[in-house]
Amino acid sequence: MNLIIFGAPGSGKGTQSDNLSKDFSLIKISTGDLLRNEIDKRSELGKKIKDTIDKGSLVSDIIINNLIQDILSEKKNINRLIFDGYPRTLNQAKSLELLLNKFNQKINCVISLSVEKDIIIKRIIGRQICSKCGLTFNEFFYPSNNKNHDCDLKFLVKRTDDQESTIMTRYDTYLKQSLPIINFYKEKNLLHEINGSGKIASIYKEIYAIISALKG
Ligand code: AMP
Repeated sequence: MNLIIFGAPGSGKGTQSDNLSKDFSLIKISTGDLLRNEIDKRSELGKKIKDTIDKGSLVSDIIINNLIQDILSEKKNINRLIFDGYPRTLNQAKSLELLLNKFNQKINCVISLSVEKDIIIKRIIGRQICSKCGLTFNEFFYPSNNKNHDCDLKFLVKRTDDQESTIMTRYDTYLKQSLPIINFYKEKNLLHEINGSGKIASIYKEIYAIISALKG
Protein backbone atom coordinates (compact mmCIF):
# COMPACT_ATOMS: atom_id res chain seq x y z
CA MET A 1 0.00 0.00 0.00
CA ASN A 2 1.23 3.52 -0.87
CA LEU A 3 -0.38 6.58 0.71
CA ILE A 4 -0.24 10.34 0.35
CA ILE A 5 -0.88 12.76 3.21
CA PHE A 6 -1.80 16.09 1.71
CA GLY A 7 -2.40 19.48 3.34
CA ALA A 8 -1.15 23.00 3.91
CA PRO A 9 2.07 23.64 5.83
CA GLY A 10 1.24 23.11 9.50
CA SER A 11 -1.80 20.93 8.79
CA GLY A 12 -0.32 18.00 10.74
CA LYS A 13 0.88 15.87 7.82
CA GLY A 14 4.17 14.94 9.50
CA THR A 15 2.63 13.94 12.83
CA GLN A 16 -0.12 11.84 11.24
CA SER A 17 2.29 10.17 8.81
CA ASP A 18 4.52 9.21 11.75
CA ASN A 19 1.52 7.56 13.41
CA LEU A 20 0.56 5.70 10.23
CA SER A 21 4.09 4.61 9.56
CA LYS A 22 4.26 2.96 13.00
CA ASP A 23 0.85 1.28 12.89
CA PHE A 24 0.94 0.06 9.29
CA SER A 25 4.70 -0.56 8.93
CA LEU A 26 5.05 2.03 6.20
CA ILE A 27 8.12 4.08 5.34
CA LYS A 28 7.55 7.82 5.63
CA ILE A 29 8.98 9.87 2.80
CA SER A 30 8.98 13.56 3.68
CA THR A 31 10.45 15.58 0.81
CA GLY A 32 10.94 18.44 3.30
CA ASP A 33 13.13 16.17 5.48
CA LEU A 34 15.06 14.93 2.43
CA LEU A 35 15.73 18.52 1.38
CA ARG A 36 16.81 19.50 4.90
CA ASN A 37 19.24 16.53 4.85
CA GLU A 38 20.71 17.94 1.64
CA ILE A 39 21.04 21.36 3.33
CA ASP A 40 22.87 19.75 6.28
CA LYS A 41 25.47 18.39 3.85
CA ARG A 42 26.35 22.04 3.04
CA SER A 43 26.67 21.16 -0.65
CA GLU A 44 26.19 23.73 -3.43
CA LEU A 45 22.80 22.17 -4.13
CA GLY A 46 22.00 22.37 -0.40
CA LYS A 47 22.71 26.12 -0.36
CA LYS A 48 20.35 26.72 -3.30
CA ILE A 49 17.66 24.60 -1.65
CA LYS A 50 17.99 26.52 1.62
CA ASP A 51 17.50 29.86 -0.17
CA THR A 52 14.35 28.56 -1.85
CA ILE A 53 12.90 27.03 1.34
CA ASP A 54 13.64 30.12 3.45
CA LYS A 55 11.83 32.28 0.89
CA GLY A 56 8.74 30.08 1.22
CA SER A 57 8.87 28.95 -2.43
CA LEU A 58 8.88 25.43 -3.81
CA VAL A 59 12.04 23.60 -4.80
CA SER A 60 12.10 22.73 -8.53
CA ASP A 61 10.13 19.72 -9.73
CA ILE A 62 13.30 18.29 -11.31
CA ILE A 63 15.13 18.09 -7.97
CA ILE A 64 12.09 16.59 -6.27
CA ASN A 65 11.36 14.07 -9.02
CA ASN A 66 14.96 12.85 -8.93
CA LEU A 67 14.74 12.29 -5.17
CA ILE A 68 11.51 10.34 -5.56
CA GLN A 69 12.76 8.27 -8.48
CA ASP A 70 15.67 7.06 -6.31
CA ILE A 71 13.29 6.07 -3.53
CA LEU A 72 10.80 4.26 -5.74
CA SER A 73 13.54 2.24 -7.38
CA GLU A 74 14.62 0.69 -4.07
CA LYS A 75 13.21 -2.79 -3.50
CA LYS A 76 12.66 -2.35 0.25
CA ASN A 77 10.31 0.59 -0.44
CA ILE A 78 7.96 -1.18 -2.85
CA ASN A 79 4.31 -0.67 -1.87
CA ARG A 80 5.27 0.56 1.60
CA LEU A 81 5.44 4.30 1.19
CA ILE A 82 3.67 7.15 2.84
CA PHE A 83 4.34 10.48 1.16
CA ASP A 84 4.35 13.54 3.40
CA GLY A 85 4.58 16.88 1.60
CA TYR A 86 4.78 15.28 -1.85
CA PRO A 87 3.39 15.73 -4.46
CA ARG A 88 3.12 19.50 -4.05
CA THR A 89 2.40 20.51 -7.67
CA LEU A 90 0.21 19.03 -10.38
CA ASN A 91 3.36 18.36 -12.36
CA GLN A 92 4.80 16.32 -9.45
CA ALA A 93 1.52 14.39 -9.12
CA LYS A 94 1.64 13.48 -12.82
CA SER A 95 5.31 12.49 -12.62
CA LEU A 96 4.54 10.32 -9.63
CA GLU A 97 1.89 8.47 -11.67
CA LEU A 98 4.44 7.76 -14.38
CA LEU A 99 7.10 6.66 -11.91
CA LEU A 100 4.71 4.40 -10.02
CA ASN A 101 3.62 2.79 -13.30
CA LYS A 102 7.25 2.20 -14.20
CA PHE A 103 7.77 0.34 -10.92
CA ASN A 104 4.39 -1.50 -11.09
CA GLN A 105 2.94 0.35 -8.14
CA LYS A 106 0.08 2.72 -7.42
CA ILE A 107 -1.30 5.14 -4.83
CA ASN A 108 -4.01 3.47 -2.77
CA CYS A 109 -5.33 6.48 -0.87
CA VAL A 110 -4.84 10.23 -0.46
CA ILE A 111 -5.70 11.76 2.91
CA SER A 112 -6.23 15.51 2.71
CA LEU A 113 -6.12 17.43 6.01
CA SER A 114 -8.03 20.72 5.94
CA VAL A 115 -7.23 23.28 8.61
CA GLU A 116 -8.26 26.95 8.87
CA LYS A 117 -5.62 29.54 8.08
CA ASP A 118 -5.44 31.11 11.58
CA ILE A 119 -4.80 27.72 13.20
CA ILE A 120 -2.14 26.93 10.60
CA ILE A 121 -0.31 30.17 11.36
CA LYS A 122 -0.30 29.45 15.12
CA ARG A 123 0.83 25.88 14.52
CA ILE A 124 3.76 27.03 12.41
CA ILE A 125 4.79 29.93 14.64
CA GLY A 126 4.67 27.69 17.72
CA ARG A 127 6.41 24.68 16.16
CA GLN A 128 9.51 23.48 18.01
CA ILE A 129 11.66 20.51 17.07
CA CYS A 130 14.01 18.67 19.39
CA SER A 131 17.40 18.65 17.69
CA LYS A 132 18.40 15.64 19.79
CA CYS A 133 15.50 13.17 19.36
CA GLY A 134 13.58 14.71 16.42
CA LEU A 135 10.21 14.95 18.19
CA THR A 136 7.98 17.91 17.29
CA PHE A 137 6.19 20.10 19.86
CA ASN A 138 4.16 23.30 19.82
CA GLU A 139 4.53 26.04 22.39
CA PHE A 140 0.78 26.87 22.20
CA PHE A 141 -0.88 23.51 21.59
CA TYR A 142 1.55 20.81 22.72
CA PRO A 143 4.45 22.14 24.78
CA SER A 144 7.39 19.91 25.59
CA ASN A 145 7.34 18.73 29.22
CA ASN A 146 8.78 15.91 31.30
CA LYS A 147 5.80 13.64 30.47
CA ASN A 148 6.07 13.80 26.67
CA HIS A 149 9.81 14.43 26.22
CA ASP A 150 13.00 13.04 27.75
CA CYS A 151 15.50 15.60 26.38
CA ASP A 152 16.51 18.92 27.88
CA LEU A 153 14.55 22.01 26.69
CA LYS A 154 17.80 23.55 25.41
CA PHE A 155 17.60 21.15 22.44
CA LEU A 156 14.35 22.69 21.15
CA VAL A 157 14.87 24.60 17.88
CA LYS A 158 12.71 26.33 15.28
CA ARG A 159 12.88 25.66 11.56
CA THR A 160 14.39 28.60 9.67
CA ASP A 161 11.32 28.72 7.40
CA ASP A 162 8.88 28.79 10.33
CA GLN A 163 9.10 32.60 10.57
CA GLU A 164 6.06 34.84 10.60
CA SER A 165 7.31 36.65 7.47
CA THR A 166 7.66 33.41 5.46
CA ILE A 167 4.44 31.74 6.54
CA MET A 168 2.13 33.84 4.36
CA THR A 169 4.27 33.13 1.28
CA ARG A 170 4.25 29.41 2.07
CA TYR A 171 0.47 29.49 2.49
CA ASP A 172 -0.01 31.37 -0.80
CA THR A 173 2.30 28.90 -2.54
CA TYR A 174 0.14 26.11 -1.16
CA LEU A 175 -3.09 27.71 -2.42
CA LYS A 176 -1.74 28.46 -5.89
CA GLN A 177 0.51 25.49 -6.61
CA SER A 178 -0.54 22.61 -4.36
CA LEU A 179 -4.32 22.87 -3.92
CA PRO A 180 -5.10 21.93 -7.57
CA ILE A 181 -3.83 18.43 -6.74
CA ILE A 182 -7.01 17.81 -4.76
CA ASN A 183 -9.09 17.58 -7.94
CA PHE A 184 -6.53 15.34 -9.62
CA TYR A 185 -6.96 12.72 -6.89
CA LYS A 186 -10.70 13.34 -6.47
CA GLU A 187 -11.18 12.37 -10.11
CA LYS A 188 -9.29 9.15 -9.42
CA ASN A 189 -11.59 8.42 -6.45
CA LEU A 190 -8.62 8.29 -4.11
CA LEU A 191 -9.30 11.37 -2.01
CA HIS A 192 -10.47 11.36 1.62
CA GLU A 193 -10.90 14.84 3.06
CA ILE A 194 -10.56 15.14 6.82
CA ASN A 195 -10.94 18.07 9.19
CA GLY A 196 -7.44 18.46 10.57
CA SER A 197 -8.23 21.20 13.11
CA GLY A 198 -8.99 19.11 16.18
CA LYS A 199 -6.94 17.01 18.55
CA ILE A 200 -4.14 14.87 17.05
CA ALA A 201 -5.58 11.66 18.52
CA SER A 202 -9.12 12.15 17.23
CA ILE A 203 -7.93 13.11 13.74
CA TYR A 204 -5.74 10.04 13.71
CA LYS A 205 -8.67 7.84 14.74
CA GLU A 206 -10.49 8.91 11.55
CA ILE A 207 -7.42 8.33 9.39
CA TYR A 208 -6.76 4.97 11.03
CA ALA A 209 -10.32 3.80 10.22
CA ILE A 210 -9.94 4.76 6.55
CA ILE A 211 -6.58 3.00 6.14
CA SER A 212 -7.71 -0.09 8.07
CA ALA A 213 -10.72 -0.41 5.75
CA LEU A 214 -8.37 -0.28 2.76
CA LYS A 215 -6.38 -3.17 4.13
CA GLY A 216 -9.71 -5.01 4.46
P1 AMP B 1 7.84 20.71 4.62
O1 AMP B 1 8.85 20.14 5.56
O2 AMP B 1 7.03 19.66 3.94
O3 AMP B 1 7.00 21.79 5.27
O4 AMP B 1 8.67 21.43 3.47
C1 AMP B 1 9.51 22.53 3.74
C2 AMP B 1 9.86 23.24 2.44
O5 AMP B 1 10.59 22.34 1.60
C3 AMP B 1 8.69 23.70 1.60
O6 AMP B 1 8.19 24.96 2.01
C4 AMP B 1 9.32 23.75 0.21
O7 AMP B 1 10.15 24.89 0.06
C5 AMP B 1 10.25 22.53 0.23
N1 AMP B 1 9.54 21.31 -0.25
C6 AMP B 1 9.18 20.23 0.49
N2 AMP B 1 8.57 19.31 -0.27
C7 AMP B 1 8.53 19.84 -1.52
C8 AMP B 1 8.01 19.38 -2.75
N3 AMP B 1 7.39 18.19 -2.87
N4 AMP B 1 8.15 20.18 -3.83
C9 AMP B 1 8.78 21.37 -3.76
N5 AMP B 1 9.29 21.87 -2.62
C10 AMP B 1 9.17 21.11 -1.50
